[in-house]
Amino acid sequence: MEAIGATARPLPTGALAVQWPPTHVGRFGPATKLAFDPIVADAAKAELCVVGSDILDRILADASGRGFHCVARIDAEGGHPPADVLAANLTFPNARATVLAAEEGVVPYALFNFRVTLETDEKVELLRTVLLNAETMQEHTASEIFLQESLTLPEEAIVGPSDLAAAYRAACAALERSIEPDVAAIRAKAGALLADDLRRIEAFYDTSIQELYDSRRQAPLEAERVFRAERDRRTEEARRRYAFTAKARLVNVRTILIPTTTMRVRVENGRGATEMALEFDSVNLETNRPSCHGCGSLAAAIHLCSRGHLACDACRRGCAFCDEVACAKCAPDALAACAACVKPACPDHAFIDEIGRKPYCADHIHACAICGRMVGPPYVRACGLCGQSYCAVDVEESGRCTTCRTLVAVPATHGDVVRATAEKGAPKNVTKWVRGKNGRYTVLVGKGAIFQYLYVLDKEGATVQRRKGTGLLRG
Ligand SMILES: [Zn+2]
Ligand SMILES: [Zn+2]
Ligand SMILES: [Zn+2]
Ligand SMILES: [Zn+2]
Ligand SMILES: [Zn+2]
Ligand SMILES: [Zn+2]
Repeated sequence: MEAIGATARPLPTGALAVQWPPTHVGRFGPATKLAFDPIVADAAKAELCVVGSDILDRILADASGRGFHCVARIDAEGGHPPADVLAANLTFPNARATVLAAEEGVVPYALFNFRVTLETDEKVELLRTVLLNAETMQEHTASEIFLQESLTLPEEAIVGPSDLAAAYRAACAALERSIEPDVAAIRAKAGALLADDLRRIEAFYDTSIQELYDSRRQAPLEAERVFRAERDRRTEEARRRYAFTAKARLVNVRTILIPTTTMRVRVENGRGATEMALEFDSVNLETNRPSCHGCGSLAAAIHLCSRGHLACDACRRGCAFCDEVACAKCAPDALAACAACVKPACPDHAFIDEIGRKPYCADHIHACAICGRMVGPPYVRACGLCGQSYCAVDVEESGRCTTCRTLVAVPATHGDVVRATAEKGAPKNVTKWVRGKNGRYTVLVGKGAIFQYLYVLDKEGATVQRRKGTGLLRG
């Protein structure tokens, strides 16, 4: 009413006396008495203005035909290749995106203008505009062109958003997101000032109470109580002064018809795939951003989870040993952290310790050459004779591995002995040899008169360890 120049004056009966401006006398008459309560309407002989009443319908019909909600059209050139627009807007670091289908059409958008007041001890006024695709409720940049007054040329037919209430809610959510940085800044500033004030108040009363006791006056307890009450009151005052409030008021809504391309996009890699609907208006050439399945934030860089989810940079989890990617939700199930180095590993690159049952990466799991068991560092033992590492089961208390405990005599002409002692400086006249073998190593011990000679050969017959000593076979 204010906007059209009508005046409204509350009456003692609870009704409202409305004086219509000359432009509206034809439609409403010179004055109307309105009531929002049937009892008041009855008593004050006023027109009942509630949902469904004739007067409210007429007021709404008048309002929707005016500048507060009018429709405009934007003509922009179409013909932008959807794949190019997609590539210019979004990146898929671990997947390919293909436009499966694209369709150009004219779509109604709702342009909301809000006035926001942020208040602490100071007051900040902001004007914020939110532009939404009224069908998908996706936010688009409200660039200069949408704000031009010349756009308010009314369309013949009123094509409003089909669900104005939902559009309004989406706009409010977008508004909250847009003012978040301003809110954080003003709150931080007020918070710092409040902390200063509280410190000052605290210090003042601490000193006062201290002085009170130092002066040894009568009834210090009583005086202290008064001080404390006063301090509490001032603290409370300071808190109220810096308390934060935010108020937003919708100034107006406008429907704008904008040529828009809707597309179906497939995102895939060798491990997973998903499809999504995206759109761009031909003014901004800006696609909407897909939302991360993990945290819900809208992201321009999207990682594809192997299970077909989308993840933002912050929610992307990857195997440290291959290109497997999981979103934050799938990660606990799809990736295991190595119990030694905590690197995440996919099922192909994580190994379960068969004794301790903890997962390890390839760098920290150990395959026992004797029994084939996979074990992590806590269950790996080195044999005191051959010096090789095996699982804890295969290295006895005595410190000797199963292979070294079951060495069998072989002649000095045995191929392994010949190979091991081929080098220069090797013992030539040792005749007694014992030999053992497991999945990876061959252990040979030559028993000389004083010294024993240990050789550990790998599968290729190369010497991986050699040792000379006395009492090697003891124990
Ligand atoms: Zn996320
Ligand atoms: Zn992997
Ligand atoms: Zn996932
Ligand atoms: Zn590891
Ligand atoms: Zn073993
Ligand atoms: Zn051994």
